[in-house]
Amino acid sequence: MTQPPLTLYLAAPRGFCAGVDRAIKIVEMALQKWGAPVYVRHEIVHNKFVVDALRDQGAVFVEELDECPGDRPVIFSAHGVPKAVPAEAARREMVYVDATCPLVSKVHIEAERHHENGLQIVMIGHAGHPETIGTMGQLPAGEVLLVETEADVATLEVRDPDRLAFVTQTTLSVDDTKGIVATLQDRFPAIIGPHKEDICYATTNRQAAVKAMAGRIDAMLVVGAPNSSNSRRLVEVAANNGCSYAQLVQRATDIDWRALEGISAIGITAGASAPEVLVNEVIDALRARYDVTVEEVETAQENVEFKVPRVLREPA
Ligand code: SF4
Repeated sequence: MTQPPLTLYLAAPRGFCAGVDRAIKIVEMALQKWGAPVYVRHEIVHNKFVVDALRDQGAVFVEELDECPGDRPVIFSAHGVPKAVPAEAARREMVYVDATCPLVSKVHIEAERHHENGLQIVMIGHAGHPETIGTMGQLPAGEVLLVETEADVATLEVRDPDRLAFVTQTTLSVDDTKGIVATLQDRFPAIIGPHKEDICYATTNRQAAVKAMAGRIDAMLVVGAPNSSNSRRLVEVAANNGCSYAQLVQRATDIDWRALEGISAIGITAGASAPEVLVNEVIDALRARYDVTVEEVETAQENVEFKVPRVLREPA
């Protein structure tokens, strides 16, 4: 039986970013240096496949520091942690390594700098996401106010409308955030912010590639985890830019084949924490049912690499 033709538009860039790559390498190095078990506070990156592979090598994933024994090393995930976490690890004289992405640390430093200048901070982010918790936890309670939507801005109660700054989560929707920033600037004209938002290069580039293909595809599959903020944003970007069906899949077994009936063009991308092996698995599953022609849609080239420490040192 001949297979129906399918044009597969493959987004570039897609998948792993420099911060995820670095965080995974740090866990692997810690396992080499100290042997198993090495504890990791929160999923090192939001991907089950990555977490399971590291677990097989001896990493133990926990949600809170008090679940870690004092005599084993602990690594903090790429999303960043509130200041109280390393402080508590130091108090317990634990060996710890911070795998926070440098672009998240940059936001932490920004928030601290504004605080030192006497400004109250508004964070645009998702409540409960570990990055938001980590960034808000850089400063004392009440110094960082969270807004998730434009409607939140209207009800925001601030200490002094003329002494404000804003920061953002790194993995937000570029388009939605522009609207929230504009609403903030409307209500608080003196508010200070970064030149652009704090949305990182990887999030921005992956969203741009999806936008470039959304109008010419019948469906979009985003390889990524349900708790991955940047992956979920890619599904929204596809839907908001003319793609009538967009699905988040962790791997090929999640594909809803019935929803894909009758399509002739599909887009594939992957969130910043999804490994390429899962993208290939999804493409192979499509090849098993369709006569696939792959076309890459490249909207940017990435050459960002974050230094991995050559040797993991125990904190002084
Ligand atoms: S998505 Fe952006 S901020 Fe998050 S780890 Fe990757 S590079 Fe860093």
